[in-house]
Amino acid sequence: MKPIYLNSDYSAVDGRTNTVVMTQVIKGFPYPERFCAYCEQELSVENAFHAPGNEEVFKCLYQCLNTDCGAYDEEGNMSYVRVYYSCTLAYELYESLFLKIKRELKQ
Ligand SMILES: [Zn+2]
Repeated sequence: MKPIYLNSDYSAVDGRTNTVVMTQVIKGFPYPERFCAYCEQELSVENAFHAPGNEEVFKCLYQCLNTDCGAYDEEGNMSYVRVYYSCTLAYELYESLFLKIKRELKQ
């Protein structure tokens, strides 16, 4: 069994039921590589929600952490982000789940 690291300050609101769920980026999980549409750097998985009991079904949020990226704007608090669903079931289940990201740069 893989170790799971809970980010205690990570949460998401389910727009359908208006409830808050805890989210987690699983260390070592094979999230697919995605690249920034602006600077082509590899994106970082910043938040994720995996189906309870079936971690292969998930929604995750990528962010470009490159401060030289054309989409990056410190004052405007903006960066390139991208939502990913692992499959159509994940889309159906979690489309209304609003994942947040911390705008903290990892150096
Ligand atoms: Zn970028």
